[in-house]
Amino acid sequence: MNILVLNCGSSSLKFQIIETDLNLIDQNADKQYAKGVIERIGSESLIALQATGKHPFKHAAPLRDHRAALDYILRWIVSSESGIDAIRSLGDIHAVGHRVVHGAEKFTRSVVIDDEVIDGIEDCIDLAPLHNPANLKGIYAARELFGPGIPQAAVFDTSFHSTMPETSYLYAIPYQLYRRHKIRRYGFHGTSHRYVAYRYRQLTGKQREETNILTVHLGNGCSVCAVRNGNSVDTSMGLTPLEGLVMGTRSGDLDPSILEYLMHKEGMSITEVDAVLNKQSGLLGLSGLTNDMRDLLDEEREHQDRRARLAIEVFCLRVKKYLGAYLAELGGADAIVFTGGIGENSSLIRKRVTEGLEFLGIEIDEKQNNAMTGGTEGEISSKGSRIRVFVIPTNEELLIARDTLRCVKNAPRRW
Ligand code: AMP
Repeated sequence: MNILVLNCGSSSLKFQIIETDLNLIDQNADKQYAKGVIERIGSESLIALQATGKHPFKHAAPLRDHRAALDYILRWIVSSESGIDAIRSLGDIHAVGHRVVHGAEKFTRSVVIDDEVIDGIEDCIDLAPLHNPANLKGIYAARELFGPGIPQAAVFDTSFHSTMPETSYLYAIPYQLYRRHKIRRYGFHGTSHRYVAYRYRQLTGKQREETNILTVHLGNGCSVCAVRNGNSVDTSMGLTPLEGLVMGTRSGDLDPSILEYLMHKEGMSITEVDAVLNKQSGLLGLSGLTNDMRDLLDEEREHQDRRARLAIEVFCLRVKKYLGAYLAELGGADAIVFTGGIGENSSLIRKRVTEGLEFLGIEIDEKQNNAMTGGTEGEISSKGSRIRVFVIPTNEELLIARDTLRCVKNAPRRW
């Protein structure tokens, strides 16, 4: 089955085409035919599309909305210019899978999209006012362009964390606020945490029930997840993705009184404060330079920039604190898995995050750690390490494609 995977942001649309079926999954032989991204939808859009193994196609064109962007992509996919031999017409695309950010308590697994599901995603807009409307735009655009004959599925960023117990997900605020407004921790990056936990099981031959690990997603957004018996039991993001680790532009954990203090001291509105915490904080805010970890590491190495170093150190310390907290919560773990742009590529950050944790049984093999970069997968802990440490590149799109297949075929979840 050829599946179009869509990930829509407020002014962007990312896609992949992946062939998958139950046999391909068993052999881990799913095929990616193409990928691409359109940014700055609504003005002069930047288009970058690529069939697997072919040269990228880059272009700029005015695309007024998500429908126009998807239409552009679909025309390219079926054109001879794209060079995707497996897709000659829209009929060769058999289903569409959407990444949806917030499923709240309503969606605990991936679902086939119908009118009721769309209403449910709309009901979650209050909790994700930037993300869910963008995801819905993608759903509407695909409905319009493919018609009702092509099934679509929604895969939620929150659903992997729906197994968290209330002791993990409740904030210590008046309980009726949870009852009335569903103010609680939901967690995000669920598809990524779930994927790397699954790959960990494949690499180690463990059963789902024996999977007791921490998964650490360090990208522009960052989160840690504690997995017990294969299920998420705690994660660092909360009601929104702002809580937890220091991120590219998000502050992560802070004293909530800062909000009122900032409004008072800087004369800011609550919307402005929210923008500071989400868009101008984290690595960017601390360094005053950039939200890009690679550039910060370069600045630190080449110019010994004090603020770049500070930002990196605050970032690493926060990860370390969460590792300690979650290891205590789980009563120990078999492994820690790093993923995300930073987690997959930066041996230096992995080293700094795990340094000094030998007392917990975490020992990194320097050679192995340095070798693991640019999409490689494997173990980086030394032979004697009581807790094994892995690097596993995430692949959310693949999981979305497989979930879509499962939903559409009504097949049991085996991965
Ligand atoms: P993501 O959101 O998962 O795409 O991750 C983006 C982050 O990964 C950015 O901060 C990048 O600077 C960072 N990143 C990518 N490659 C490297 C690298 N080789 N070393 C350090 N950071 C990297």
